[in-house]
Amino acid sequence: GQKEPTDINALTDEYLRLSYHGLRSKNKDFNAILVTAFDNNLGKIEVNPLELGRVLVNVFNNAFYATQQKKTQLNGQYQPEIKVSTSQQNGNVEIRVWDNGVGIPENLKNKIFQPFFTTKPTGQGTGLGLSLSYDIITKGHNGFLKVNSIKGEFTEFIVSLPANPSIH
Ligand code: ADP
Ligand code: MG
Repeated sequence: GQKEPTDINALTDEYLRLSYHGLRSKNKDFNAILVTAFDNNLGKIEVNPLELGRVLVNVFNNAFYATQQKKTQLNGQYQPEIKVSTSQQNGNVEIRVWDNGVGIPENLKNKIFQPFFTTKPTGQGTGLGLSLSYDIITKGHNGFLKVNSIKGEFTEFIVSLPANPSIH
């Protein structure tokens, strides 16, 4: 895809808010605290903004979904929260998306990136979001997509992009 110098903070913030307001408009019970921590010294990096936007929307929607699942399970006494941050690590730009939702069981962590793997009810998930996201980040941008999670506690996705990727 076509890459262009992109303000990662602005893109991330824009898609976070799109995702949040999209879900909020469809479901009056939806709520979540959004916490953002953007590194203001990132500068622009070469990415395909539409492709990266797709990755972000998918990761954000998954995170929000996981919190609403936990809210249903716990039936009160729970505040959904999503934390999104950007930073620079060893020449890479990292976008971290953390949620305090249902988490991912250890035995499913290597399955979630496979096409068509979903734990969502029929009609609610295609299971293609993370597999597409993985390809966009690794094959399309020479980056990494990783997950940390503890079931019942939290999930964190880390999108890592080379600050100066070669353009194919
Ligand atoms: P879909 O959203 O259609 O299910 P994805 O590829 O986006 O497909 O995600 C695959 C699966 O990974 C989800 O069904 C869910 O089991 C798990 N998953 C992804 N993100 C999270 C998250 N933030 N918290 C808990 N589980 C997650
Ligand atoms: Mg998804």
